Amino acid sequence: MIIDDQQYDIIIVGTGAGGGTLAQKLAPTGKRILILERGSAMALEEQNLAGVDVLRNKRYHAPEQWYDQSGEPFSPQTNYAVGGNTKIYGASLMRMRDRDFEAVTHQDGVAPEWPLKYNDLEPYYTAAEQLYQVHGDATQDPTEPAHSRDYPYPAVDHEPVMQPIVDAIANQGLHPTSLPLSLTRQDDDPTGDAEVFGINLALQHDNVTLKTTARVVSLHTNSAGTEIKGVQAEVGEQAILYIGHIVVLACGAVNSAALMLASANDKHPNGLANGSDQVGRNLMKHQMTVIVERGAVNNSGTFPRSVSINDFYWGDPNYDYPMGHIENSGGLLQDVIFAESPPLLSVMAKVMPGVGLKQLAMRSIGWWAQTGVLPDPNNRVYWQNQKLRFEFTPNNTEAHDRLVYKWLDVLKALEKTSKGLQRSGVYPRGEAPIQVVGYQSGTCRMGTDPQTSVLDINCRTHEIDNLYVVDSSFFPSCASVSPALTVMANALRMAEHLIGRLG
Ligand SMILES: Cc1cc2nc3c(=O)[nH]c(=O)nc-3n(C[C@H](O)[C@H](O)[C@H](O)COP(=O)(O)OP(=O)(O)OC[C@H]3O[C@@H](n4cnc5c(N)ncnc54)[C@H](O)[C@@H]3O)c2cc1C
Repeated sequence: MIIDDQQYDIIIVGTGAGGGTLAQKLAPTGKRILILERGSAMALEEQNLAGVDVLRNKRYHAPEQWYDQSGEPFSPQTNYAVGGNTKIYGASLMRMRDRDFEAVTHQDGVAPEWPLKYNDLEPYYTAAEQLYQVHGDATQDPTEPAHSRDYPYPAVDHEPVMQPIVDAIANQGLHPTSLPLSLTRQDDDPTGDAEVFGINLALQHDNVTLKTTARVVSLHTNSAGTEIKGVQAEVGEQAILYIGHIVVLACGAVNSAALMLASANDKHPNGLANGSDQVGRNLMKHQMTVIVERGAVNNSGTFPRSVSINDFYWGDPNYDYPMGHIENSGGLLQDVIFAESPPLLSVMAKVMPGVGLKQLAMRSIGWWAQTGVLPDPNNRVYWQNQKLRFEFTPNNTEAHDRLVYKWLDVLKALEKTSKGLQRSGVYPRGEAPIQVVGYQSGTCRMGTDPQTSVLDINCRTHEIDNLYVVDSSFFPSCASVSPALTVMANALRMAEHLIGRLG
């Protein structure tokens, strides 16, 4: 193995929402920062693809296999590239609701209280929204928590095909709200992501080095097991050991946990910082159902998501538990998760010629129903015989079913009043299958008790002084809104801590 001759102040592993955001905030400190990323930069034409191809091919699946609880292999839809999953995400950047930080009672149990509260994270949410140029309107949604500052840009208009539908939803007494979106305002690359607003800004500083196609395979501790001494990466065919004073994992919740487990040694026989046996446990991913509705007229198939509905977020008069979040999918030809899910489209994608499939997609309006799950220690990532096991059984399913049926009722009522929709009464739908892992979180949860958590309040591992985790691993519970803004805000919070520590 080659030992790199540089000594870094900080090594960051991964360049997604967590790693990219952290890197740009730390870069102006002048500290020597090394960023290791297993993927490479994506060509513009590969990012946020739109077209029939998205429905047909297993786009953005990692070139590797993970194994489910039955030992069946699957290829996860996750993006190894500079910017990570933010290169292919929907760019809707929502704050968790303030109550999401408290203990929340669901039908299946209680989601734990966060050691951080909304007010602790609020300044960082604001900073992340400014950094990621979020376009939104914080005044429309009754569940939106207080903002200390407006979004930096006003909300974008709904696509003409959506506007009458949005109006009809409001006429039902609901509160359709502009979805907060990160946008660059550049025609060639419109979606804001962690490469554009994170890594590219960090690389403007000479003290920052990015190595791509550098897959970290192991972390080595000192003989006492109290500090990380070396970060071992495979760079092409070459094994290279990098040395840094502080190591921050930002590989995504699944890969950060897997890396800690794969780095077991004499002092950490069950994996690094895993004396509590919590690393990899409490894996969460949202329950997601896509619902297709027939439009009355053709649409482009490629317009962005724009509307969010949270009227059922905390339940409804018939159900006193949280149900979740609804948003439109935008044009069906650009939603890469959608392509995985609805039996209608995925089955047809295999048999239909491109033209027919395209026509079908362009006559459809898509909706997402999204519900959080409870952390369950039996839902977990583990590392066995050099293989990544991903054991996940969704819970809180009645809340999600109720949300879906509630939304179907809304759609039926809409069809009677909105000119934008056809009266079909039929709504093909499908739940996102196991390989849709983009909303993963929770495998190294943050807490004050080392027996029940992996990370302390600064996202430092309880057991290893210079090891931090800054991706979605830290979530103690997962709310029903999308996770990326919370990952970004937390990265900015952690950056402050690290700047203080580095002096
Ligand atoms: C299709 C899709 C749509 C989505 N839409 C939205 C949305 O609209 N709104 C929202 O809030 N969220 C959305 N998400 C989820 C969002 O992208 C994630 O929550 C967010 O990116 C998580 O950030 P992260 O830093 O934890 O991980 P990631 O962004 O996944 O970054 C992890 C990085 O680590 C790298 N890496 C992994 N292992 C290693 C290793 N061993 N060595 C070196 N590098 C490594 C990866 O290549 C990657 O760059 C979506 C996800 C997907 C897949």
